[in-house]
Amino acid sequence: MNKWEENLSAAVKQVPPSGIRKFFDVAAKMDDVITLGIGEPDFVTPWHIRESCVYGLEKGYTSYSTNKGMPLLRKEIAALYKRSHALEYDPEEEIIVTVGVSEAVDLALRAVLDQGDEVLIPEPCYVSYKACVILAGGIPVPVATGIENEFRVTADALEKYVTPKTKVLLIGYPNNPTGTVLTAEELKGIAAFAQKHDLIVLSDEIYGDLTYGGLEHICFSSLPGMKDRTILFNGFSKAYAMTGWRLGYALANPVFIEAMNKIHQYTMLCAPVTAQVAGIEALQNGDANMHKMIHEYDRRRHLIYEGFCRMGLKTFEPKGAFYIFPNIESTGMTSEEFVENLLEREHVAVIPGNAFGECGEGFIRCSYATSIDKISGALNRIENFLKNI
Ligand code: PLP
Repeated sequence: MNKWEENLSAAVKQVPPSGIRKFFDVAAKMDDVITLGIGEPDFVTPWHIRESCVYGLEKGYTSYSTNKGMPLLRKEIAALYKRSHALEYDPEEEIIVTVGVSEAVDLALRAVLDQGDEVLIPEPCYVSYKACVILAGGIPVPVATGIENEFRVTADALEKYVTPKTKVLLIGYPNNPTGTVLTAEELKGIAAFAQKHDLIVLSDEIYGDLTYGGLEHICFSSLPGMKDRTILFNGFSKAYAMTGWRLGYALANPVFIEAMNKIHQYTMLCAPVTAQVAGIEALQNGDANMHKMIHEYDRRRHLIYEGFCRMGLKTFEPKGAFYIFPNIESTGMTSEEFVENLLEREHVAVIPGNAFGECGEGFIRCSYATSIDKISGALNRIENFLKNI
């Protein structure tokens, strides 16, 4: 270890390396790679949203906003939750606009965790959760799920990991990387569990708009007794194809929002104002374009699901987000071997399932946020790869 590495904080040293980056580095050096690796929309942000930002700049929206975000944006967020989930949030005290959901998750964890507090995290899960918990001084406690019940976490499974140190349950449905959506009954079971153990629930609902087959997204805060103990996250990256704008938000009781703002006011000051102006337009007039994109993801979802079924890989139909999580154990390879070999031989990039937690070993994550042509091409190449193992 060199001198500077020794100087790094214990928390940073403890953060696991990303299981994704090395494959992107290899893929970036190759020609004609088809990537199903990237977890972001392939659409450009709809023009009316971009245009509103241009007009905003013309009008001189170039200063800081209030720390918690532009009042009109918070008002629109409150109106959205009232409209879609019959939830009442006070725009002044119960909403904070953040630099993506990423910042909101970080703020929430830092606001509530003390050194050594435990956070239950159903896995497989989004890669940043574990790292954020560690950086906030907490201890991530993975709760494994499996393909036998489509990676649904249950109250019974969670129960086994509760200790006197357990303070938070961090969930994300629709799920990245599996595409799993929980039913109302399942969510109610988790809610009862949280109540029984007096846990704070952090619910990352960034894929809440991306559900398929007529499924309605159930907001965790809308379950009886949950609003007060839940910090709910959502953002613009996925549903409005706005990843690069860096805009998200959290809704929670005034105490949690004030605590998050206490950190945010000194670290970020506010989310980018250019993005906030665009966010207002997205919420006021963005539904039609969003639904067109969702319709397109749905077409791709059918194609990729049928493709993997045809190849005989064990998988289940994802009901939300834009990922599918097939099992590759029948090939005799580990997730990483499969990903490396597929990239080398067929120039298709996917992500090894174990990047999302140990129980993701034996799976790969494929994103269908890419064109039908590219998905068809990738499926042909994967089929060819499987034939020649
Ligand atoms: N939460 C989940 C589950 C995600 O998959 C992602 C990005 O892939 C994020 C949060 C990050 O969102 P944002 O761009 O709003 O920071």
